[in-house]
Amino acid sequence: VKKVFSGIQPTGNLHLGNYFGAVKRWIDLQNSNYDVTYCIVDLHSITLPQKPLELKENILRICATLLACGIDPQKSTLFLQSSVREHSELCWILSCNTTMARLTHLPQYKEKSEKMKEIPLGLYLYPVLQAADIMLHKANLVPVGEDQIQHIQLAQSLTKNFNHRFGPTFPTCEPMISEDLSSRIKSLRDPTKKMSKSDPDPKSCVMLTDSPDQITSKIKKAVTDFTSAVTFDPQNRQGVANLLTIHSLASNKSIEQICDESQRLDTGQYKFKVAEAIIEHFNPIRLKIDDYLKNPDYLWSILDIGNEKAQEVAEKTMNEIILLFLFLGGG
Ligand code: ATP
Ligand code: MG
Repeated sequence: VKKVFSGIQPTGNLHLGNYFGAVKRWIDLQNSNYDVTYCIVDLHSITLPQKPLELKENILRICATLLACGIDPQKSTLFLQSSVREHSELCWILSCNTTMARLTHLPQYKEKSEKMKEIPLGLYLYPVLQAADIMLHKANLVPVGEDQIQHIQLAQSLTKNFNHRFGPTFPTCEPMISEDLSSRIKSLRDPTKKMSKSDPDPKSCVMLTDSPDQITSKIKKAVTDFTSAVTFDPQNRQGVANLLTIHSLASNKSIEQICDESQRLDTGQYKFKVAEAIIEHFNPIRLKIDDYLKNPDYLWSILDIGNEKAQEVAEKTMNEIILLFLFLGGG
């Protein structure tokens, strides 16, 4: 059975990009024949400043959201990264095998540090911690959005180097990225950028927790262009293509069918259709999130169970690695 691993940061509520690019596929994999582990990566989120209480809230919020979306703790291991110390330990070992040159050009680091005067070292190391996450759990498959490809490639080369030096220890991991545009949902305010939880402009994202009114208002204000017809042209009409993509994913209709049905509408009128489809798909999920959030003790108990399972796997891998070092170091 192939092992699937993926993570999500507790940096706020989930948005449509997180859902279609990652979480929806996590659930499909959970319900197929895979051994799946999903991680709330709080150590990743502290690469940028976090307020402790807010971070705690956000951990619960992500946990509630994942359950509401369909993660089943009986089938998936769902755990909190910081509760398993081995993630940091393996990160250190791997960082000693990574060059600075390899990390400098990675796009997430470049984007997130662009406007900073003092760049935290952790932000730079982020992809190495991500490689540690994947390798510690000996994952074969990593379902992520397109923005993570280069990070997975780093994990692949660290795996290769490690196995080459110390013998076959880790399986090679493959990123799982969908072919369609679901792996790159764009910001509603700037369709050249990806939708991001940490985007300071709340109008750039539709959150899974947004009310119907908020959804309608955000979609109404989505940046499109000066052509009024509803056509799918991701090269030249990124804003409209993004709305069509979201609409198609939320409604399970093909983009072609939607364009057909929207022939008489201009993009302004069409936006209401998009909002309707999003509301219909996500309203039940939103209500479930609210319900789960009323019961934080239950959410912590789910994480406790997952933490224990993940801890077992992590210890086993670290023991294996430490033996290799002792043998080589002493030998
Ligand atoms: P942050 O801005 O804090 O980095 P984020 O929105 O990028 O938040 P992450 O927690 O970093 O979210 O990523 C979680 C998963 O969601 C990853 O697999 C990532 O590739 C995927 N993802 C993030 N944004 C998008 C997007 N716009 N379209 C598709 N997938 C996405
Ligand atoms: Mg991100």
